[in-house]
Order: sequence, then structure tokens, then C-alpha cells
Amino acid sequence: MKKLFVNKEACIGCGACVAIDGEHFDFDEDGFSSVISQENIESDSVKNAISSCPTSAISYVETTESKEEECEHCDGHCQKCEENEALA
Ligand code: SF4
Repeated sequence: MKKLFVNKEACIGCGACVAIDGEHFDFDEDGFSSVISQENIESDSVKNAISSCPTSAISYVETTESKEEECEHCDGHCQKCEENEALA
């Protein structure tokens, strides 16, 4: 399964993605971009946001339902991991 992902280690909080596609990106409480929707993630606006990010922080990741396998790809920063952390 393909998911939209923001690497918060790379994000500098410039706001470009939020300005381009507020349907998929918003600032989190730390001022970094966060993915807020996994719907229609191959839209032109998402692709524009990806290509406009100055630090290449936005990407697609292949995920599975397995938390362990997903973490290998996302380095612990994917939405699923954040959900798991919130539930812990
Ligand atoms: S465009 Fe890139 S660096 Fe700027 S807020 Fe979005 S993810 Fe962060």
C-alpha cells in the first residue's frame, strides 16, 4: 500500500506544501508539515507539493499492515507509527 509521508527530520516548516495542498498537508504542533489525508494522494496538487518541497521531505512510501515492516521504510515517522505511539 502506498502512503504519503513527510520526513520531519528533513522538513524545515517553509509551508510550501501547506499552501499548495492544504487538503493533504497541515502544520503540526511543532511547526512542521504533517500529512492529514491519505485520500487521492496521486493528485496533481500532491505532486506539485512534492516537487516544490525545498528539502525533498515529502515522498511516497510502500507500507504493509505490519508495524515492523512499515517502520523499516518510514524510520518511525509515518502516520501509522504516530498512531501507534498515540495509542501506547
Ligand atoms: S514544503 Fe517541505 S520543507 Fe516545506 S513545510 Fe512542506 S514538507 Fe516541510
